Amino acid sequence: MRRISIFGATGSVGSQTVDLVRAAIATAPDTARVVAVTGGRNVARLARAARDLRAEIAVIADSARLPDLRAALAGSGTEAAAGEGAILEAADRPADWVMSAIVGVAGLAPGLRALGHGATLALANKESLVSAGEMLLARAARHGGRILPVDSEHSAIFQALGSEPVEAVARLTLTASGGALRDWPLERLAQATVADTMRHPNWSMGQRITVDSASMFNKAMEMIEARELFGVAPGRIEVVLHRESIVHSLVAFRDGATLAHLGVPDMRHAIGFALNWPERRALPVAPLDLTALGRLTFETPDPVRYPAIGLAREAMALRGGAGAAFTAAKEVALDHFLAGGIGFSEMAGIVGATLDRLAGTGALNDAPVTLDDVLAIDGLARVRAGEAVRASRARTGQRAG
Ligand code: NAD
Ligand code: MG
Repeated sequence: MRRISIFGATGSVGSQTVDLVRAAIATAPDTARVVAVTGGRNVARLARAARDLRAEIAVIADSARLPDLRAALAGSGTEAAAGEGAILEAADRPADWVMSAIVGVAGLAPGLRALGHGATLALANKESLVSAGEMLLARAARHGGRILPVDSEHSAIFQALGSEPVEAVARLTLTASGGALRDWPLERLAQATVADTMRHPNWSMGQRITVDSASMFNKAMEMIEARELFGVAPGRIEVVLHRESIVHSLVAFRDGATLAHLGVPDMRHAIGFALNWPERRALPVAPLDLTALGRLTFETPDPVRYPAIGLAREAMALRGGAGAAFTAAKEVALDHFLAGGIGFSEMAGIVGATLDRLAGTGALNDAPVTLDDVLAIDGLARVRAGEAVRASRARTGQRAG
């Protein structure tokens, strides 16, 4: 009987995980039971997931919503709890397979706890790998836990890599759709609104990652994520603009062979692969029809349109605490963009200025070893990024939104 927990069960990846787990349990009721489901603020969705999966416990991050959660779960047999501490306690409940689909650095602590119990961690939360990749891998190695990538590109690479050692790899190619603004004239990018960035051509995802796709901060994070997960040198990681989002990523090997993972853009591929691994089982995804597609295109991304790619290279060259600073600065910049306080094109400058300032003081020299180390760099980077936001506003003459 496999014990399953889903962190971030109310989000885009989380609710697709709930659907797949529910279908798996319906097919084979005695093979799995659900321990914990957690959500941020959406009580109705969390309660539905908990009832559908007959979870032992449901935890809502926002403590003020505990009475609502209790009411929504009345008579269900699922325990209700709330707050950050309760999410960590839920992560301490033994589970064999844990989905990490909280967005942001808040996903790191529950992931570390799960790995500390030797769980298999299906990792959608890329921020934890970017901020603390070495720590997560060390935790997994020490306690017999395992990380299975759920980000579609990394799932693709994991599958293409098979059992080959990293020494056999010549290059990892991450594909990028280019996001909602890929065909906008460069001079208009500064005026892009949040609504403009949300019109993703291929993928349906949560709000933050969709904006990050338009800026390619998502791809930038994924470059660092790939470096941490697969141990490949930064110079061997490249990004290619692939408008159709059919090739999810590629591995070029030393012998000249390149293996790619293809499929329709549907996260249930990667979530389902991690859920069923090491087996491959049927998934409710549309088959790939290559002749209907006709052709697939690949382009070099324009470094002026997508400065985030260069910033990821800078962070990878710095290493140490640069990933944690990169994530935190990007979150601050994104928060301000979402709130209307800064323009779309200002985000990259804020992340760059934060990295430069912190690197200049030596604050990023050491890789974080403990969760507190990560949170310390995160806090410092948020302060510096806040200063960079104010400086950027002063330069562009904008007022707080
Ligand atoms: P989302 O915003 O749709 O969902 C995020 C989940 O985290 C929700 O359940 C939310 O309630 C919860 N949450 C948010 N803040 C929290 C906090 N402080 N404490 C506890 N819970 C909190 O996001 P998403 O698009 O599902 O993405 C989740 C993660 O997966 C992100 O790291 C994202 O980069 C990654 N990812 C997503 C996709 C996708 O298709 N959506 C693809 C690849 C990777
Ligand atoms: Mg991805």
